[in-house]
Amino acid sequence: MLEVKDLHVRYGNIQALHGISFTVKEGEMVALLGANGAGKTTTLLSIMRLPPPEAPLVTKGSILYKGVDLIGVPPHEVVSRHGIGLVPEGRHIFGNLTVMENLKIATYARKDPANIQRDYERVFGLFPRLADRKNQRADTLSGGEQQMLAMGRAFMSGVGFILLDEPSMGLSPLLMQELFRVLKELNEAGTTILVVEQNAHLALRYAHRAYVMETGRIVMEGPAQELAENPEIKKAYLG
Ligand code: ATP
Repeated sequence: MLEVKDLHVRYGNIQALHGISFTVKEGEMVALLGANGAGKTTTLLSIMRLPPPEAPLVTKGSILYKGVDLIGVPPHEVVSRHGIGLVPEGRHIFGNLTVMENLKIATYARKDPANIQRDYERVFGLFPRLADRKNQRADTLSGGEQQMLAMGRAFMSGVGFILLDEPSMGLSPLLMQELFRVLKELNEAGTTILVVEQNAHLALRYAHRAYVMETGRIVMEGPAQELAENPEIKKAYLG
């Protein structure tokens, strides 16, 4: 479904990715692990084709999604035509709007209005906390609830492939578990997922496969369970 090949990316003179290659198959949940500054966020931004100044410059390589090279595709089309959604680090919800209004905005570009009601029910079923707070302003939600809303929005946008940047950031251990359980449920219901995560324990428990990045390169990859048992990974990321 997604095939990134030999991707080289830089910001000005800083080379951030030195030729990374990886794949995400339809229906998979794949984790991208690695320390601070390894290039995980840059990888997601490159796929989403975000506009300047955030846009990292791709200097070489390809990002094939269902056979189309996304390099050269305008950012809005990545979402609306190709059906890829991003849940960025730091959430980016509309604080002055209610929970319901935030979700509603996400459905704006959908071409299947008949399914929207079903998806609201699904989001509120997955996140009962959001159901109880439909009319609450988003900026008064707790950090964990805002993260749930950000995920709910990605789901309501009707995309088939969701990229998440550090969804566990700033959450209590209990909420982290809850969030990953929901992610897994979304995945099992048919959404393909690529999740960037510093919490390797958590990611390897729920993902099918994972890639480990170090300073702009992929240094290890494999089935999540295998990586979780790998002595090097244990030492470096699992403590
Ligand atoms: P973290 O887990 O800390 O978010 P990351 O793995 O997501 O790290 P990136 O944010 O992708 O790492 O950063 C990769 C490299 O690119 C880092 O060396 C970073 O300093 C650099 N970088 C990121 N954004 C920019 C930018 N806008 N301008 C210049 N350099 C940047």
